Amino acid sequence: MLTFNNLSGLIKFNILEKHPEVLNFVTTRQTPSGSGTMFNIGYSGGSDQETLDCRKELAQSLGLKAENFVFQQQVHKDNVKIVTQEDCGKGFLSRDTAIKATDILVTKERNICLVTRSADCVPVLLYSPDSKSAAAIHSGREGTYLGVAAKAAKTLAENFGAKIENMIACIGPAIGFECYEVDTDCAEKFTNNPRFSHETYAYKSGKVFLDLKSMIYNDLITLGLKPENIEKSDICTKCSNNRFFSARMKDNQRFCAGIMIKNQR
Ligand SMILES: [Zn+2]
Repeated sequence: MLTFNNLSGLIKFNILEKHPEVLNFVTTRQTPSGSGTMFNIGYSGGSDQETLDCRKELAQSLGLKAENFVFQQQVHKDNVKIVTQEDCGKGFLSRDTAIKATDILVTKERNICLVTRSADCVPVLLYSPDSKSAAAIHSGREGTYLGVAAKAAKTLAENFGAKIENMIACIGPAIGFECYEVDTDCAEKFTNNPRFSHETYAYKSGKVFLDLKSMIYNDLITLGLKPENIEKSDICTKCSNNRFFSARMKDNQRFCAGIMIKNQR
């Protein structure tokens, strides 16, 4: 589903590659230059200088500057930030300047790269081709329960006139169904809630397994997105720990997904 670009260490969603006005990427452990395997975007699990160096390499490899990026301070809630030019560069040079307490970044403006960080949580990108607006979403277990991806899609519709039926969604590499084991207490709010279909959880040896990516997919379909407009990555970050950071594999580092609408000439 995702194209591995071995030259760069970055991967892309095929479904967005059909829209040349959009830049999209998911980082891996591998540096864009291919020289290393500790490409940490997170300001965590290493020195701040290492993260800054990685971010600068990311910017350079994409032909962007620090001012093009906007990072959020993710807190597993469903707060939305409508990003404008005055937010440009926030959170790039330091975690302290990131958009506070937000898991959903949306914008209609050009040359603003919205970023979401992950290590098992689900990174989701949205693009509305008719309204030319975009979103980057951090959907971990709590965010998925709160329906952050669908909330982002609704925000694009309500604020920018985006048509849900044309909206494109990319559900990124994240912990897979077979690997995402949680306690029964923790799973109850999902298994007790009819919004989550029986296919999105399973019981095995006293534990419950959750399929976060399918929960997000189902929410988006319920909202009115078309199956052909959704790309769901089958990459499990825990199984593919050699390619991605995984919290369940005790990584404190983070990879990221980003989306930017380019200036059209
Ligand atoms: Zn797995």
